[in-house]
Amino acid sequence: MNAEIIAVGSELLLGQIANTNAQFLSKQLAHIGVNVFYHTVVGDNSTRLKSAMEIAEKRSDLIIFTGGLGPTKDDLTKETIASHLGKGLVHDEKALHYIESFFQKINRVMTENNRKQALILDGAQVLPNDHGMAPGMVVTSDNRTYMLLPGPPKEMQPMYLQYGEKAILNLMHSNDRIVSRVLRFFGIGESQLEHDIEDLIDGQQNPTIAPLAADGEVTLRLTAKHPDEKQANELIDETEKRILDRVGQYLYGYDSTSLMNELFIRLNKESLTISCAESLTGGMFQQEMTSISGASSVFRGGVVCYATEVKKNVLNVKQETIDSVGVVSSACAAELAENVRMLMDADVGISFTGVAGPNEQEGKPVGTVYIGIAFKGKAVQTKELKLAGTRESIRSRAVKIGCYLLLNSLKESQNLN
Ligand code: ATP
Repeated sequence: MNAEIIAVGSELLLGQIANTNAQFLSKQLAHIGVNVFYHTVVGDNSTRLKSAMEIAEKRSDLIIFTGGLGPTKDDLTKETIASHLGKGLVHDEKALHYIESFFQKINRVMTENNRKQALILDGAQVLPNDHGMAPGMVVTSDNRTYMLLPGPPKEMQPMYLQYGEKAILNLMHSNDRIVSRVLRFFGIGESQLEHDIEDLIDGQQNPTIAPLAADGEVTLRLTAKHPDEKQANELIDETEKRILDRVGQYLYGYDSTSLMNELFIRLNKESLTISCAESLTGGMFQQEMTSISGASSVFRGGVVCYATEVKKNVLNVKQETIDSVGVVSSACAAELAENVRMLMDADVGISFTGVAGPNEQEGKPVGTVYIGIAFKGKAVQTKELKLAGTRESIRSRAVKIGCYLLLNSLKESQNLN
């Protein structure tokens, strides 16, 4: 199968953004044995997009478009393709429902142009958008396949990996069952992970191995094809074992789980309750924990102790600690974790204090973070981190690392018992 990628967007031509979508897709298509012979970039212009399509149709079996699926007037990819193929556009009810309920939830009037995002080419297979509004789609016409994906990489990449790749594999091997499994890692960077399993990635055939990094985590999607689903799963088991022999210590879960969810499951299993004191993270840990249904079985409550007085007056951080080492310190994190645990009568206390930026604090640079973990009847553990990135990424990474550290402590204590 020969493929061509057409990236649509004037900002690409103006040099405002790089065409990383083509790079990502080419890499993925190479993994499943699809030749990519051309990358085309075209602006938000219907006439030029149509002529790019006509050229692509002469040389490719599969044409993948990215961008131009949004609500605004310059988003014209599907309209242009529909008119070129002589197909109508119809509303995808699921996508429309999702968009409508999103606007209802935020109590805003949905403008008419948002309905446009739910339009799909008549007869197309829908590729759900789990990270945005506009669905992707696949349609075949005259023995040629057209795949439309959204522009934002955060939407496009998971959509391709979750649904797009399967659709292409189905076209290539109509008798095969396609089985995927996502391995989720934390505590290892994407380049280190890729380096550690480089030979497996280079030699991959069936299953394919697709690495993806997002929000400080790395995932590997293993996709196998076989006429028998059980055997496809066995192929994945074998490759997973080879991967985990090398980097198994960083695996924390499978498929769509999250670190917080794994933490919740573990606490629940061990019948432990938790409480949290948050300075730097301002409630993010508690927000994420309470977004899990059933959180009340493990979560007691917590304190957002942003001001020093609150740390002192509500959570009994000693004046001596504040005067000697400050609130961004290991000693403060330890007191916060232990004292919130006692205040909330929980088995475990976790705390976050640090400097998210943009300015340093107490002479400590942006990205300095302390996490405290207190188990009833045990000495408090603390961890000092030096994180890079924006204010938001430092805060969200701190929460993830807190979950990860706590998860590991729970696993270790279980191993010791
Ligand atoms: P939206 O609903 O956000 O409008 P869309 O599917 O219409 O999505 P575009 O409007 O074309 O997509 O692009 C939205 C954003 O996605 C761009 O501003 C850019 O940040 C990113 N993007 C688009 N195309 C690419 C590309 N080829 N490579 C990398 N990033 C891209």
